[in-house]
Amino acid sequence: MAKLVGMNRKRAGYALAAVKEFINQTQADNLPTAIGDLIGDLLHFCDQEGLDFERLLRKGRGYHAKETASRCKKCKRIYDGDDLDCTDDLCVECEAKRLAQKRITKGIEL
Ligand SMILES: [Zn+2]
Repeated sequence: MAKLVGMNRKRAGYALAAVKEFINQTQADNLPTAIGDLIGDLLHFCDQEGLDFERLLRKGRGYHAKETASRCKKCKRIYDGDDLDCTDDLCVECEAKRLAQKRITKGIEL
């Protein structure tokens, strides 16, 4: 399981809220089943609305790839760019990166 921080954690939370509502509506009995059913139902919805699901899936994968381009080599946290705006306990490398990010934000020379 990947450790998410910052906006990517929020994005995963948005998806969880959608899946929880889907489970409420369908009584799917576990998370993988609910996600598979939801994707299938999104295909039906795109058919109904004349939307190109495969194009939208490629678009979503593109967003995901861009938003997970950075990963800490030590603890494997996934960043959205340089986003380390979090209150988690960070590994030494992540903390160093966060402090450098703060210096840059405040315009402090290293
Ligand atoms: Zn780290």
